[in-house]
Amino acid sequence: MTLTPHPRRQRSLRMLAGLTATSAVLAGGLALAPSASAADCSSGYVALTFDDGPTAATTNQLINALRAGNATATVFPTGQNAQNNASLMQAYKNAGLQIGNHSWDHPHLIQQSAANVQSQLSRTQTAIQNTAGVTPKIFRPPYGETNSTVNSAASGLGLRVVTWDIDTQDYNNVSSQQIRSAVSRASNGQVVLMHDWPTNTIQALPGILQDLQSRNLCTGHISASTGRAVAASGTPTTNPTTNPTTNPTANPTTPSTGSCTATATKGQEWGDRFNVTYTVTGKSNWSVTVYPSNGQSIQSAWGANRNGNTFTPNGSNSFGVTYYKGSNNVNWTPTGVCA
Ligand SMILES: [Zn+2]
Repeated sequence: MTLTPHPRRQRSLRMLAGLTATSAVLAGGLALAPSASAADCSSGYVALTFDDGPTAATTNQLINALRAGNATATVFPTGQNAQNNASLMQAYKNAGLQIGNHSWDHPHLIQQSAANVQSQLSRTQTAIQNTAGVTPKIFRPPYGETNSTVNSAASGLGLRVVTWDIDTQDYNNVSSQQIRSAVSRASNGQVVLMHDWPTNTIQALPGILQDLQSRNLCTGHISASTGRAVAASGTPTTNPTTNPTTNPTANPTTPSTGSCTATATKGQEWGDRFNVTYTVTGKSNWSVTVYPSNGQSIQSAWGANRNGNTFTPNGSNSFGVTYYKGSNNVNWTPTGVCA
């Protein structure tokens, strides 16, 4: 398995880059979009995949570029990003994109215990169900790293592990032309690795779609039975057991309930982030889940054991979290729900 360097960038840097490139991307996308009426798929299907989203600065541009080219794609959001960007998960779904699982917060899963791997995958399934109303059938391991623990956790959740045939290296800050050139090697059934956040990827899309069309290749989805690109069914798998409107991040006023209470106290604040201290009463064996609002994210935490947005005791009944305010500059104090 290829071990691909895959740096995760600072959110603030990504947003700055995204904002400056937005208008150029839109103009280019509309000017270069292939005609929607001339789809000739006689050479087959290619799956364009976009990992690590949703991203406040770029996801809508990605969707617009795909729509302008009458194309579809597969997205692999992390559970954490899904939970923090529920409206963009709805945008993915409304655009007809196939949604897969990409772990909760992008760890090296091959270094994790079986229980942690299981948690990373199952919590992400739940977050995607709660935000987009669909149940993923495919899983892309972060960095493409798999082992028997990862494979069995995935299959236990009905997920097929999918890596890629072509790595565009778009996470390595390569140019739009280099990304376009990499995709031009794709053939029928192949899966192409790209990401939701690089602006060069979005700028490359109109040309990529034009190239595919000129080769009579269409964009498709990934078959959960074969792992290969096939024609999109056009009908996203809807999970009837979940209510897509149930989104904990959209209900920031929910207080702590049950046998314990987590009291949130806002602390020091900086330009792009702020601290919150949570003090738990009523129970010593507690578990507190925090709910950052749309766009906010956790930078770091201390004083408790952390698993994604859930905290458990590490010697005291209080812990602290530093939150990024995110693209919407939200300094609202996230609720902590104790269980
Ligand atoms: Zn990734």
